[in-house]
Amino acid sequence: METTRQPMTGPSPQQRRAQQRLARQLADIGFALPGTISLRQMRCGKRRCRCKADTPQLHGPYIQWTRTVDGKTVTKLLTPEQLERYQPWLDNARKLRDLVSQLEALSIDAIRHAEGWGEKS
Ligand SMILES: [Zn+2]
Repeated sequence: METTRQPMTGPSPQQRRAQQRLARQLADIGFALPGTISLRQMRCGKRRCRCKADTPQLHGPYIQWTRTVDGKTVTKLLTPEQLERYQPWLDNARKLRDLVSQLEALSIDAIRHAEGWGEKS
């Protein structure tokens, strides 16, 4: 007996709904600031300073915003007030990367479904 093969008609209704949900979440993202925040303690330029002592007391901590521009690391110091103001933008960038990953994974599922490929294809 020959099994009838369902014609493939693209993504499933469930996949289409998931795509629309991701599209709405992507549309809701505001500013998205790339880079990472780290706290740094530093030495200063003064020759005689507590930061140069035998048991050095470094300055800081300073809030350092680091990102990559054309393959080079660029850093900028932020005040606590600036960090507070821009933390939501940094959070948005992380959320954006997460949503893009979800959209890519969903799209891989969708092409498998649409083309009748197996899980491992
Ligand atoms: Zn110093």
